[in-house]
Amino acid sequence: MTAKIIDGKKVAQHVRSECKLLVDQMKKLGVSPGLAVIIVGDDPASKVYVANKVNACREVGLDSKVYTFPANATDQEIESEILRLNADPKVHGILVQLPLPAHLNAKKLIASISQDKDVDGFHLYNVGSLVAGTTLFPPCTPFGVQKLLEYENIPVAGQNVVVVGASNIVGKPMALMLMQQDATVCICHAKTRDLAQFTILADILVVAAGKPNLIVPQMVRRGAVVIDVGINRLPNGQLVGDVDFEGVKEKASYITPVPGGVGPMTVSMLVHNTVQSAIRQSGLQLEV
Ligand code: NAD
Repeated sequence: MTAKIIDGKKVAQHVRSECKLLVDQMKKLGVSPGLAVIIVGDDPASKVYVANKVNACREVGLDSKVYTFPANATDQEIESEILRLNADPKVHGILVQLPLPAHLNAKKLIASISQDKDVDGFHLYNVGSLVAGTTLFPPCTPFGVQKLLEYENIPVAGQNVVVVGASNIVGKPMALMLMQQDATVCICHAKTRDLAQFTILADILVVAAGKPNLIVPQMVRRGAVVIDVGINRLPNGQLVGDVDFEGVKEKASYITPVPGGVGPMTVSMLVHNTVQSAIRQSGLQLEV
């Protein structure tokens, strides 16, 4: 068996074109959706991520504005900008680009974002709503994985899902979202003993550990769906995931490549969350 390769770029583009249709309709009705991005310091990777978000917004006609603070900015300075954005009716989504410099209190700053504009879904209110199955803003990376499964018509209910990685931004929300769709979910992490005894049971295996070649073919059940969230830069400059792609694709039924799998979905889901937020806040009834 050779797996079907899930084309994340294509699905991400599909999500963006749906968003664009909604933005066009909203603009005709006098609402212009807007995203505010806060970035602190000069971290080169963060700058690239923010530029990607701005470009995606531009592509669908969303207004985006970047608020740049110097690396020595204080919690108070950033929080007062967030509070101002919370009250600005032209802003429908607010995100703080992570990681923040170590002297800042990231938890407190995220808590100061209005829960109704928290498009990253990191505010504790939205984390709690995710546990209850009612969140307005599913976190973008696991939301992207969910969309890929949906787009490929891969059933989730009743499936054995194994999530490798238990971070707050990927592994934990991923597990909750798939459990909400009636999967039987197991979460593994760095302290899991004998990872393979769990991964081999997976009908759907989602890997988000940040370790190249963590998942090799003998750890994967024949016919499993394998979603690789990992992004790792090898010493030779090559970008790879956490899965031995060439080996595992001969055993899986579906697999995501790196790059071009989950990565492009994350930014598209941010755009989706912002558009949905604008629809909710404006009280419009729109559909694509
Ligand atoms: P993290 O470092 O916060 O968490 C990693 C998790 O993996 C932890 O729970 C850890 O216990 C687990 N882990 C580490 N080594 C392991 C091992 N040997 N066996 C089993 N579990 C192990 O990382 P994160 O922020 O969740 O990101 C994970 C990966 O996903 C990274 O490669 C990151 O670059 C990538 N990522 C991709 C996107 C995207 O848009 N595609 C978004 C976010 C993160």
